[in-house]
Amino acid sequence: MTPSRPARTRSVAVVGGGIAGLATALALGRDGWSVTVHERAPGLTALGAGLVLGPNAVRALDALGLRAAVRERAFALTGSAVLRPDGRALSRLAASRLAERHGAPVLAVERSALHALLADAVGPGVVRCGSDIADATSLAGDHDLVVAADGIRSRTRATAWPDAAAPSYAGYTAWRAVVHTDTGLTEASETWGHRERFGVVPVGDDAVYVFATATVPAGRHAHDGATELAELRRRFGAWHAPLPALLDAVDPTTVLRHDVDALPRVPASFHRGRTVLVGDAAHAMEPNLGQGAGLALEDAVVLAHVLADGGRVEDALARFTALRRPRASSLVALSARLGRLTQGGGRATGAARDAVVRLTPAGLALRGSDRVMGWRPPRGAAAEARVGA
Ligand SMILES: Cc1cc2nc3c(=O)[nH]c(=O)nc-3n(C[C@H](O)[C@H](O)[C@H](O)COP(=O)(O)OP(=O)(O)OC[C@H]3O[C@@H](n4cnc5c(N)ncnc54)[C@H](O)[C@@H]3O)c2cc1C
Repeated sequence: MTPSRPARTRSVAVVGGGIAGLATALALGRDGWSVTVHERAPGLTALGAGLVLGPNAVRALDALGLRAAVRERAFALTGSAVLRPDGRALSRLAASRLAERHGAPVLAVERSALHALLADAVGPGVVRCGSDIADATSLAGDHDLVVAADGIRSRTRATAWPDAAAPSYAGYTAWRAVVHTDTGLTEASETWGHRERFGVVPVGDDAVYVFATATVPAGRHAHDGATELAELRRRFGAWHAPLPALLDAVDPTTVLRHDVDALPRVPASFHRGRTVLVGDAAHAMEPNLGQGAGLALEDAVVLAHVLADGGRVEDALARFTALRRPRASSLVALSARLGRLTQGGGRATGAARDAVVRLTPAGLALRGSDRVMGWRPPRGAAAEARVGA
């Protein structure tokens, strides 16, 4: 069927100016929609430190027309490793093997850089900051489509999806920071201890994203960077190089700490009438796969694709749920399983886990990546394939 464009310009209200909201605004704006993004914060700023973009996320960015821009601002990782606290490797995988298999590189980027890149691409006059939307569904009266990209604590999901599960504490807390120092590292690594992890991800030639997790009761925050940094030194200061040196280089005022919350399961449907949930509002997951933002970017590409034939919005949203829900549901469950494996269990379970990881052949790990990183944009969704892209 030849896609036909609707005669009049259709309009969409997007609630939330995070990665999901901006990516959706970009995708629909490029397809000729009149877009308004409502962001409740007074300015467009991104909270967070760094992000890994798997080949699937990179493909989504390519489909959004950001191929060159993202490669210019992101760092191409050469591999990933799982290490022990003494520095010995449990497993190692070259990024080139993932890139070969999935047809796109593995990149890492400062979250603020990705956010700014999306905001620039969306352009001026689209985002209304300081606009706190109490009830997103009420916007459906003035728009053809309402996109709720209002994050893990989505008010839209809580009010319009009363049967959907609320987010809950995954049982561990996370610290994040970007350290500006030249380490010479090109590989991302995650070091696994007993119910504790420390991650290192180069995001530029002289910038490293570090994160750490620990299984603790909820709500034990110090609310002060210096105390949080002291806690990180206490937990990880005797682990392998360069972790102690990286901790020494952290600016305490930049340390973020959040208890990790996630949806125990995704809603039964991602749409209600002409309102649709995208990003964390639809499928907030534990961060163990490094895929939350990746899925949000995929959502944007798929949403624009299902709406491109100009047919009934309700029908297009039903296709969106059918295409997105199984994948999101599967990754939410997989990430929770990984969380239990790395943050739960006793020391014996930890030793068994390490042995399994150490003995898993790289080829098997590579095949295992298909489920997570093997996503492809729907046919015809790539920006390059569209006239004027
Ligand atoms: C520790 C950690 C590490 C992570 N690492 C990675 C990684 O390596 N790779 C990856 O892909 N993902 C990662 N993620 C996940 C990723 O950060 C999220 O999935 C992603 O940012 C979700 O984007 P979003 O736009 O859906 O939500 P958000 O970023 O939460 O944006 C929601 C926006 O909506 C606004 N808003 C909320 N309510 C309203 C309202 N009523 N009216 C108007 N505006 C509203 C908010 O102010 C906010 O700007 C990580 C997450 C964590 C916690």
